[in-house]
Amino acid sequence: MQVSRIAQRNIFAFLYGIIFASMVSSLQPSDLGLILSYKCQCECAHCLYNCAPARRDWMTGEEIFAALEATTYWEQPYQVHITGGEPFLKFSLLLHAVEAASELGIQVYAETNGGWCVSDDLVERRFSALRYAGMSALLISCSPFHAETIPPERTIMAIRKSLEIFGPQYTMVYLPGWLEQIQAFGSDTPTPLEAYVQVYGQEDAGRMFWQGYSLISGGRAGYRLGHLTPKQSPDSFREQSCQQELLYAQHSHFDLYGNFIPAFCGGLVVGDWHQLPHLIEDFQANNYSPLLKTLIEAGPYGLYEMAQETYGYSALENGYAGKCHLCVDVRRNLVEKGDFVELQPVEFYENF
Ligand code: SF4
Ligand code: SF4
Repeated sequence: MQVSRIAQRNIFAFLYGIIFASMVSSLQPSDLGLILSYKCQCECAHCLYNCAPARRDWMTGEEIFAALEATTYWEQPYQVHITGGEPFLKFSLLLHAVEAASELGIQVYAETNGGWCVSDDLVERRFSALRYAGMSALLISCSPFHAETIPPERTIMAIRKSLEIFGPQYTMVYLPGWLEQIQAFGSDTPTPLEAYVQVYGQEDAGRMFWQGYSLISGGRAGYRLGHLTPKQSPDSFREQSCQQELLYAQHSHFDLYGNFIPAFCGGLVVGDWHQLPHLIEDFQANNYSPLLKTLIEAGPYGLYEMAQETYGYSALENGYAGKCHLCVDVRRNLVEKGDFVELQPVEFYENF
């Protein structure tokens, strides 16, 4: 059994080598996020980066400039979004980031959960200052997960003011389909997710959350929302590699600690963005650190097999909500067993 699994893995690695031999990864996303902090006033059940009020560190002004400057190694076109955590919790730093991007000629937008939008005047002043500094657009989060902490009226205020100041073409709501639904429970107070379960029943509420939001099972989602979707055994993910997410992600992040985080893989880094040219050279030579190599060639199932064989990892009894849930759970185990450079920041693993 073991021999055939290894043989199968080698066949995948071989095929992978043939198919991708002519493609080289420059790790260039079309949309690169700058995570100023993992601090957030929310602690959403679906958060892929395990952001929370308890997380305290922020990127410095110098590092913001250095990170933006590092992106200029890539060719245009790409855009940068300033994010967190909640970047509006340190508005002066967010403004600085937008000014720095403008100085470097980089197209930039920001993301917000809108929880700070408590008065028209405050929102108008901040959005106007960002627009004046060169920010082109705003993305406002809207979901039942955010509405567990944020009264919908704040989300609506953020959208209304953004439409006025940035205009309809440059106001993005993620996801607009939830606007009506979150207000159905009342506009001036947050609504716990259990309210959806009570009204719609566990199965339909689960479908609304998982399919309606296209949830990714990484970060907290697999643990906090996994009971609302069918679970799968590790075997179900046997043929799913992560080469697309790790080598060709269109959406990636640089964080405040120097971590280059591919795709939506919270807690996993491909390297240090301070050394971007060197990192790209390594990737183009197919030179990856061990955990990345396993994920690229054999996906989370390969990581699971390695952790089981070498570190005594035991599969979760009830299964996994998706391939990223399996990956995160294995990594959560590995981070306690060894010193893995890819598993950063360590706070990710302390804030489920
Ligand atoms: S999903 Fe967004 S709003 Fe929610 S905890 Fe994470 S960063 Fe904060
Ligand atoms: S399984 Fe892991 S490496 Fe693959 S996409 Fe999900 S979090 Fe990223």
